[in-house]
Amino acid sequence: MLQAVTEFFNSENFMPHGHCFLWQPDILWLHVISDAGIVAAYFLIPFALIYFVIKRKDLPFQTVFLLFGAFIFLCGASHVMDIWVLWHADYAFQGLILALTAIVSISTFFMTVKLIPQALLLPSPAQLAKVNEELNHANHQLEILYKQSQESGQAQLLSYTKALERSNQELDDFAYIASHDLKEPLRGLHNHASFLLEDYQDKLDKDGVQRLQRLGHLSHRMEQLVDDLLYFSRLGRTELAVQETDPNQIIHEIEQMMETFLKERNARIVVPKPMPHIVCDKPRITEVFRNLITNAVKYNDKKERIVEVGFLENVNAPHGKESNVFYVKDNGIGIEKEFYEEIFRIFKRLQNPVSGEETGTGAGLTFVKKIIDRHRGRIWLESKPGKGTTFYFTLKA
Ligand code: ADP
Repeated sequence: MLQAVTEFFNSENFMPHGHCFLWQPDILWLHVISDAGIVAAYFLIPFALIYFVIKRKDLPFQTVFLLFGAFIFLCGASHVMDIWVLWHADYAFQGLILALTAIVSISTFFMTVKLIPQALLLPSPAQLAKVNEELNHANHQLEILYKQSQESGQAQLLSYTKALERSNQELDDFAYIASHDLKEPLRGLHNHASFLLEDYQDKLDKDGVQRLQRLGHLSHRMEQLVDDLLYFSRLGRTELAVQETDPNQIIHEIEQMMETFLKERNARIVVPKPMPHIVCDKPRITEVFRNLITNAVKYNDKKERIVEVGFLENVNAPHGKESNVFYVKDNGIGIEKEFYEEIFRIFKRLQNPVSGEETGTGAGLTFVKKIIDRHRGRIWLESKPGKGTTFYFTLKA
């Protein structure tokens, strides 16, 4: 076998091809130079094809391109052999290269024929340009439609907002007028009950006195509710007076203001670290902190009532991430989850087991929410019944 192969490649009995040209230099070199030129081109074209295939990965029929590259490369190789056999009679080897070139050329041909129907389906550059133009046109139409819908949507939103503002304003005005006008007769009722009690106490029996006392008490409570309503409407009507404010100073002032209240209930306020300055309506935000701290102490059954006030840069709130958040945390009775929304409703009070803390109309948290709303902030809470509650809020004014 090995002998057969060696014999096949044995070129001793052949004459180099140059003999056919009788070694005439002009013909010889014409062949050599022409073949060399063809070789250079045939060897370079595959590189151009490979570069093209790598750059245009989206191109269909990549295999045909590569086969075509191999075919051209082998054609180049057969021209190298043409030069080689001028001086060396390796015709067997030349034949092998030619055979390989033939196989690859024929494969390329069949592959090309097979792909022709698909290639014919490919859109021509002119067709592509037309489709592109149509797409651009459709895009432009869509942009116009989008702009129009946005403009009309914005106009509608603006009109809804205006209507909402108007109705809010009317509601505030109504609450103001109603509560303002209600105050007069209420005060009269309260005064008359007091006068009756003073002047006729000895003429009435025990039940009559108790009923009069109850009348006085109820009209007084009604007055408190009306006052709260009046104040609530005022919160919505007056402009905020924002200024740079030091929340640490606010807490310090509240501590001084509530000194007796805190002492009587064995309560203390803790601020773990200084809070940053903010821009807000100082008296209103003082009211927010005062309300939250008062509740934290009021709705607390622990021996030592601790209220922590602080600031957090980032908080994972139930509605998403929030930054620059103030909090007021207590170790009190806590709030059941089902009441998280309700407690912000005006005059809503829960059944509280803490005795001696009957004062309050259920409006405090409504004021707090209104003030925070006006500062374009948010308020929410976390609570564990029996363990304590944390109120969080943000301010954006
Ligand atoms: P008020 O204190 O006058 O009742 P608020 O609007 O301040 O009114 O509070 C509404 C209700 O929310 C309270 O009656 C109380 O039941 C509940 N609440 C508020 N703060 C707390 C708290 N820190 N811990 C437990 N319950 C609270």
